Amino acid sequence: MPDDNSHASSRRQILTGVAAAGLVTAATTGRSGAAAEMAAPTPALVDPENAYPRPPFPQQSQPWPGLAGKMTPRPDHGETSYRGSGRLAGRKALITGGDSGIGRAAAIAYAREGADVAIAYLPQEEPDAREVIALIREAGRKAVALPGDLRDRKYCDALVQRAHRELGGLDILVSNAGRQRHQDSILDISDEQFDETFRTNIYALFYLSKAAIPLMPRGGAIIATASVNAFSPSEILLDYSATKGAIVAFVKSLAKQMVHRGIRVNAVAPGPFWTALQVSGGQTEENIHDFGGETPMGRAGQPAELAPVYVLLASSEASYITGQVYAAAGGTGVE
Ligand code: NAD
Ligand code: MG
Repeated sequence: MPDDNSHASSRRQILTGVAAAGLVTAATTGRSGAAAEMAAPTPALVDPENAYPRPPFPQQSQPWPGLAGKMTPRPDHGETSYRGSGRLAGRKALITGGDSGIGRAAAIAYAREGADVAIAYLPQEEPDAREVIALIREAGRKAVALPGDLRDRKYCDALVQRAHRELGGLDILVSNAGRQRHQDSILDISDEQFDETFRTNIYALFYLSKAAIPLMPRGGAIIATASVNAFSPSEILLDYSATKGAIVAFVKSLAKQMVHRGIRVNAVAPGPFWTALQVSGGQTEENIHDFGGETPMGRAGQPAELAPVYVLLASSEASYITGQVYAAAGGTGVE
């Protein structure tokens, strides 16, 4: 077993090699200067326990669907930190909920890894979406903004068709948009809420997958955002947790179906992440105050901390990974 220092120094050498390889890839794939500059040298070692703010968080609430730009503190989506290394060079990706939170972190990372990116979001989220579109373009990639409501089946179909047309192909579908509204009791969940949660979280995944699969080449990837609530459901998130359980089963079944089409299908299961969904009706005010404090790490995750998982699952490096659920929850997971 090497001592701490030699371990750190060999890790540094490995990381330097990875970064150097990224620069070479950037040069050979002809990415723009801006994108190439983002492939930086040795990343600093990060202390995971103390990398980001811990609770208490300031009291705050926004009308649904909420804006990342109005949160305190502002979530970290990797705007100033994510460094690409050409892992998705030339790919075409559609990300729902790409305006904010986890979807925004994926959008920034994908663009800096060399992908053209279409984002879907609700029209009320235009201010957040504009920031993401600008960041994708700053990375030297094509950005397509496709606002609409995923509860509408026609929009789901049109969204996939337009993303495919405007990007000139579709290799990656990230079905990430989600609706979460806390209620203490099943007796407080209206039929309308139940319907909206299922439409947004699971029907849209079905519609988007059905529309996208015939357009996707071998090597394509579908990634859905599930939740640790699929495995350890919160008592105040009954309808939401049921959709997340459905997403896990959907992904595992579809992955088997898609093997012979050459399309991989996986899910990500986040724990508590600091996003607009939580402060716009997703959690009680008390839970916002203590957000993430219940995890072994004692803090909330930031969307930037999930981006590498979405990159891995989309990239060809993950060619043997399908039907899996990847958790990131500060010390717990899919249990
Ligand atoms: P977020 O609010 O930043 O993103 C959710 C997005 O969903 C919104 O930006 C919005 O564009 C989209 N959306 C919601 N309803 C829609 C509709 N009817 N039509 C179109 N778009 C709609 O929050 P987030 O936390 O980044 O959420 C992303 C995903 O992560 C969701 O599926 C959520 O369930 C999941 N998730 C989040 C956490 C967490 O702690 N934040 C934990 C586990 C899972
Ligand atoms: Mg949003």
